[in-house]
Amino acid sequence: MASDLSLPTGAVVMITGAGQGIGRGLAEVFAAHGARLVVGDLDGERAQATADALRSLGHEAVAVRSDITRAEDNAALVAAAVQHFGRLDVAVCNAGISQVKPFMDLEAADWQRMLGVNVTGTFLTLKAAAAQMRTQQPLAPGRPKGKILTLASIAGRPGAGAIASVIAPYRASKAAVISLTHSAAFTLAPDVTVNALCPGIVATDMWTQMDRDWTTLNGQPPGEAFNSRVAAIPMGRAQQPQDVANLALYLASPASDYLTGQSINIDGGLMMN
Ligand code: NAD
Repeated sequence: MASDLSLPTGAVVMITGAGQGIGRGLAEVFAAHGARLVVGDLDGERAQATADALRSLGHEAVAVRSDITRAEDNAALVAAAVQHFGRLDVAVCNAGISQVKPFMDLEAADWQRMLGVNVTGTFLTLKAAAAQMRTQQPLAPGRPKGKILTLASIAGRPGAGAIASVIAPYRASKAAVISLTHSAAFTLAPDVTVNALCPGIVATDMWTQMDRDWTTLNGQPPGEAFNSRVAAIPMGRAQQPQDVANLALYLASPASDYLTGQSINIDGGLMMN
């Protein structure tokens, strides 16, 4: 029975939306722990910049411009992993979008866009990764053949205060990612484990944009929305991509081989359940 907290040497890790933010942070941490990376992003130049930065540090990484809402792009990501590295051990379905908009101003198109990227897109990445993982042998006898991580959010949990009225489609999309994670974990066990990470308030461009839109709505100075959310975090600081990466590393390591179908808050204690 495996109890190793570190990644197997040369593990092949694919991350969507890794051109910036959490995805890029995960790519850097996985590479530093010996992984070989397939870096996807809708913005091909940003994906390339992440892969170039990893290679400049001596790591192995390939970039693929890919839109997670397109099945063929997800297939191309997986194909790149197999072509360059021979297999796919870990898939991180990270790419996602957010939107701040008052509840009564929402249109059908807002819901379709949000659910199209965050839910359908995540499903398509997950399905493409799982199809490959099921065809390969585990890295060691008795281990799963692969591991899939989804990026949900504490926004997908019940109860959220004032922010709930301005991010309704985002909240619904992340609740759906948690549900999707359960269905996938049940379907793919024991071959592939599937778990969701639920970050809190992570200092990335996504929050910069949400802060700008929310403070504009409220007539507050820029930074007010972000800073007031951070002030409520028991651990006393904003979250960094590294904090998310540390949980992702555990979920990708042999030490978590018996863990599947879970959604785990990594949020400095904002949500306690
Ligand atoms: P970000 O906006 O900084 O980066 C997201 C990346 O995804 C960008 O590089 C973007 O180009 C890419 N992307 C967007 N749509 C895509 C598509 N259709 N196909 C491929 N790539 C696409 O966001 P982030 O803060 O790094 O968030 C990453 C994930 O973590 C998201 O799923 C987000 O919902 C989730 N999350 C973020 C926070 C937070 O506080 N920042 C909290 C909880 C969960």
